[in-house]
Amino acid sequence: MDTIYKRTDPGNIDMSVISEAGRIIRAGGLVAFPTETVYGLGADALNPAAASKIYEAKGRPSDNPLIVHIADIGSVYEIAADVTPEAEALAKRYWPGPLTMIFKGKDIVPKETTGGLDTVAIRFPSHPVAKAFIASAGGYVAAPSANISGRPSPTTGDHVFCDMNGRIDMIIDSGYCNIGIESTIIDLSAGTPMMLRPGYVSEEDLREVIGDIEKDPAVFGNDTSAKPKAPGMKYRHYAPKGEMLIVSGSKERVRSYIMERIEEKPEGVRLGVLTFSEDAPAFEGADLVADMGRSDNTDMTAHRLYDSLRRCDDEDIDIILSEEPCSGRLGPAIMNRLIKAAGHNIIHVD
Ligand code: AMP
Ligand code: MG
Repeated sequence: MDTIYKRTDPGNIDMSVISEAGRIIRAGGLVAFPTETVYGLGADALNPAAASKIYEAKGRPSDNPLIVHIADIGSVYEIAADVTPEAEALAKRYWPGPLTMIFKGKDIVPKETTGGLDTVAIRFPSHPVAKAFIASAGGYVAAPSANISGRPSPTTGDHVFCDMNGRIDMIIDSGYCNIGIESTIIDLSAGTPMMLRPGYVSEEDLREVIGDIEKDPAVFGNDTSAKPKAPGMKYRHYAPKGEMLIVSGSKERVRSYIMERIEEKPEGVRLGVLTFSEDAPAFEGADLVADMGRSDNTDMTAHRLYDSLRRCDDEDIDIILSEEPCSGRLGPAIMNRLIKAAGHNIIHVD
């Protein structure tokens, strides 16, 4: 299939691109589009055949449900059966934005979109291109991240092109995604609200609005055998091709461990380091040094994380050593992605 590739500037949206993309979705096709978190791979959420195509294009397991993206708060009431006052309070504060809420679903949402569950995940993104596109597409766009399953999520149009060219109808490229990691997910479909995935909206942000929340022990605890409530969280995800190791400990010990590994690197093995601006010069001898910004700027680390993992693949890196993020605002969300990328491979060097 030929994939149409169009650029549009978020500050000056080309409405002819948006209309073309909207027509493709309404006709049952697939369009990748930018959001403030990562690029999404969209299909009409209310069309079962269209939603099924997403799984095929990504190679995504069919039990992993899709998030329905809307462009108007009122749309929630059309597809969710039980919108609680807590959900309304969260929507008022964080929508449009990087928060996904899970509700009991209405029958109008097909099983192909919900992965067979009776709940539905909904997000109202804030990216101007996403909002215009969703409205033009009919108001309900099912979209997971626009990567091949298991690859790092795409945060630029180039990333999407690498994974999806020839597999989908259209790509809308609007440059970098500001946040760079996926939305926070909270389940409001039963009992005490439960956080299922960390993201830009933090635990404290959620508590500030609705008070007590629980956190999925399979994601936030240490028991790696527990089954996560968000089916997608159980897959090895976000993963680069090389073998990845997170190096944990005091700055000095981490730095000397990585420098030693660089010095002792066997002939022919390519070693990459995911690091921070203040440490990067120490690792000059590595084959790739991916600078994720200053360690105290977790917004920047999140923004650069997936691009850094993809660069490791582009440069054929065999071993990736990653420093740990700081405990700043986005620390837990970044650590969650790093741990999955590394397949829980962590060394404590203190
Ligand atoms: P992605 O858009 O690729 O980040 O994936 C969407 C995430 O949302 C996956 O981890 C899904 O398992 C999760 N998700 C979507 N719908 C639901 C739902 N109804 N209940 C629980 N998790 C969901
Ligand atoms: Mg994904």
